[in-house]
Amino acid sequence: MSNPLYDALIKPHNGRSTTFLHLPDDTLLSHTNFIDLAGRYAAALNDLDVMAGDRVAVHIQKSADALALYAACLQLGAVFLPLNTAYTPTELEYFISDSDASVVICDPGEINEVAAIAKSTGATLRTMGAAGEGSLKDAALCLPPRTNVATREQDDIAALLYTSGTTGRSKGAMLTHRNLLSNAQVLVDIWRFSDTDVLLHALPIFHSHGLFVASNVTLLAGGSMIWLAKFDTDKVLSQLPNATTMMGVPTFYTRLLGDARFDKDLTQHMRLFISGSAPLLSETHERFEARTGHLILERYGMTETSMNTSNPYDGARRAGTVGFPLPDVEAKICDPKTGASLPVGKVGMLEVRGPNVFKGYWKMPKKTAEELREDGFFITGDLAQKDENGYISIVGRGKDLIISGGFNIYPKEIEMFLDNLPDVLESAVIGAPHPDFGESVVAVIVPVTRATLNIAAIEAEVKDKLAGFKRPRHFEVLETLPRNTMGKVQKNELRAQFENVFN
Ligand code: ATP
Ligand code: MG
Repeated sequence: MSNPLYDALIKPHNGRSTTFLHLPDDTLLSHTNFIDLAGRYAAALNDLDVMAGDRVAVHIQKSADALALYAACLQLGAVFLPLNTAYTPTELEYFISDSDASVVICDPGEINEVAAIAKSTGATLRTMGAAGEGSLKDAALCLPPRTNVATREQDDIAALLYTSGTTGRSKGAMLTHRNLLSNAQVLVDIWRFSDTDVLLHALPIFHSHGLFVASNVTLLAGGSMIWLAKFDTDKVLSQLPNATTMMGVPTFYTRLLGDARFDKDLTQHMRLFISGSAPLLSETHERFEARTGHLILERYGMTETSMNTSNPYDGARRAGTVGFPLPDVEAKICDPKTGASLPVGKVGMLEVRGPNVFKGYWKMPKKTAEELREDGFFITGDLAQKDENGYISIVGRGKDLIISGGFNIYPKEIEMFLDNLPDVLESAVIGAPHPDFGESVVAVIVPVTRATLNIAAIEAEVKDKLAGFKRPRHFEVLETLPRNTMGKVQKNELRAQFENVFN
């Protein structure tokens, strides 16, 4: 009788009075009280007839209760399905019906809209608010904590996580006990997490980063988390002295650097800063080092695989790279057309294989067969290159590759060039349909200040330094780039907005 994730992440903490969560109102939740809370939610879900394998969809704010609900699903063998809090009720309809969730837990404020969806799909609906309050908690508090733990196999699904939808409609990734546990074990080991670690947690928990990387790692190592509802510079600055480690998306680090209070004194005691989910600019890495003396450790992963590569804990953490494949992950750079391995230095499609690679896309056998090879390699969709020392750099997404007049153009190369110009704060380079070339290059610029921006000077610089076929033929200026909650630039939106600039 075993349940791989519950046995490794939750059970060992039974009876431990040590702090697990430091909550936003400065109260503490111990490990044992967390297990007690999870047991009550497991009892409440059990009362709703949730069986092993059933999907429990949650569209709720981040809270200790929300995390306890994840533990409750593990305990029952149910499939936890967290949904991005930014989704509107209209968007929720797709996820709830696609996943065939048997129970949906939503915010009390959206009950009317979600009730209509639940009614149409036959799901049972309960509520949970930002402080855990709602009809699920009301039921849970009347019940003794459940102690029974469902038996699960390594290949059983523990979570259904939808991808961020950056390149198209979100796909449900089926993640098994083996996938999540193997990844947590490797990360605890290579990043040296222990029960003395205090992780500053300001990430959302509907995404792989905040839920699996941060929370599973902490649970496995036995440490604690400073649990912030979201990233807020003031709160992060005030809590940093109590933390030993922090995980963030690149925008967390640029926002901290934008505040003069963030300095060496405040960070000297920290053991580790980790970044992922979107590319960390080399410039941010360098400014961070100059300001704090810390080298951010950048790693790379995705919903379908959790983490694949990481810069080393002890060796050189190279800006602009995502480091080496994890010890149990194989990574190869392949010709996108033939799948053949490419030599060192060549840009190609990154493929990965290991116990972390998901079981497939939910109800999408065709898409699964297209991206998951029979030999176990997963075609990540990201273009990458490996240097002679084995460091991998993500060059961009395959779908963002621009093919102009038969030439391959990698947007990141041009973005890096533009970002280094003094007038440019950041940029996004996209392809737009072009009558002669098929596609041509559009540069979207966010200036340091609009008043001093001189596009003609940028054009001259580009003409001087970049090969003709790579040059942006059209410039657009925006105040900010469209980003989703994980800090990912929404190039689909930009492509749609500037679709007709060459026509
Ligand atoms: P969708 O698959 O629905 O289009 P998505 O790929 O953005 O959305 P996620 O699984 O959340 O959904 O994100 C994974 C992607 O994020 C990776 O494929 C990669 O493109 C990007 N990414 C993650 N970490 C890094 C990193 N350190 N550097 C560059 N890109 C990264
Ligand atoms: Mg993806």
